[in-house]
Amino acid sequence: MSQKSFAALGVSQPVVRALHRRGIEKPFAIQNLVVEDILEGHDVLAKSPTGSGKTLAFGIPLVESLEPSDPTPSALVLAPTRELAKQIQDELHEIAAARGLRVAVAYGGVGLEKQAKEAARAHILVATPGRLEDLLQRRAFTLSNVDVLVLDEADRMLDMGFKPAVDRIVARVPKDRQTLFFSATLDGAAGQVAKAYTHNARRHEHRVSGSASRKADIEHRFVPVERDDRLEVLRAHLVDEDRDLTLVFVRTKRGADRLVKRLKAQGVSALAMHGDKTQGQRERALKSFIAGKVTTLVATDVAARGLDVDGITHVIQFDPPGDAETYTHRVGRTGRAGETGVGITFVGGEHRKDLGKIARELRLDRELEDGLRGRRALARA
Ligand code: AMP
Repeated sequence: MSQKSFAALGVSQPVVRALHRRGIEKPFAIQNLVVEDILEGHDVLAKSPTGSGKTLAFGIPLVESLEPSDPTPSALVLAPTRELAKQIQDELHEIAAARGLRVAVAYGGVGLEKQAKEAARAHILVATPGRLEDLLQRRAFTLSNVDVLVLDEADRMLDMGFKPAVDRIVARVPKDRQTLFFSATLDGAAGQVAKAYTHNARRHEHRVSGSASRKADIEHRFVPVERDDRLEVLRAHLVDEDRDLTLVFVRTKRGADRLVKRLKAQGVSALAMHGDKTQGQRERALKSFIAGKVTTLVATDVAARGLDVDGITHVIQFDPPGDAETYTHRVGRTGRAGETGVGITFVGGEHRKDLGKIARELRLDRELEDGLRGRRALARA
């Protein structure tokens, strides 16, 4: 597909200017693929990972299709986690304001009252399924005016057990709506749900897995290290690497807390980010991280979902990813928006086989082999 400008895709001048103010000049591939279809009113199924620009891919045509005089909420964006919901709001706020539209966000862990009020008068409501159901139960507003429904990271919403809640919510949205379904996969359960919720949808796939473009942005390194030596090797990476912000992935919440403590004992300051932290704690941790006050954030997969922070130069997988998709999501926190990044995966003896499978799937077997032989993989294909 030829590369068009935002204006040529049908985006209005106020929105083009708002994008320009944020340094966004040319559409990313996924935006090129879907913006026109959405503006024409089609349902869309898009296979598109985080970091590809998917938020604006649905956000831009969404703000173009609504009017300030529309009854509210006029569009509903469902997202699996509060972090992702907030990021969507941040990403859409300015372009929505350029068209005189309000965006509100609703997620658990904070007071209901204010969110209910703001949701009722927002043109675009971004919400996690659980909190949205709480608000609907209070009859704070209805979904009967929703013209456009977006499911973002739909596969993850299903993984997190939100299917029943999402089903109930979708049943409350008018049938003649436009539905936009964004998911890292359109296979299996996600594909079935996508089919059930959409009507004559246009399907688009933004290919990244194992593609040359992804490899060009991110250097993938595999480091053989046995379980007991991981802390020391991690510390060495954090101290020696020429790095900016670093995100370290662990499997469990307890593991995150424990690792932060052990790093501190070794003189490396780090913060933990996981689902047992309060909203305030998460926000403070994220703020210090973004500001570069603490340059190491230790996170679980769920907590890091949707984390969109500029300046993450390194992602370190202290615990191995369970599958290729998790690998892609984790390492995708670096190399955002065309920047370069480094993804480092610790490989314990007991994980070699599973990681071998993942590496093959992602076409990173060369890098894994080099890593296991103690050679630093060549970054660029
Ligand atoms: P997302 O995949 O929506 O999480 O977006 C990843 C990052 O890319 C965000 O920081 C966006 O602000 C940025 N971004 C999205 N579209 C563009 C674009 N066309 N040009 C430059 N940056 C973009």
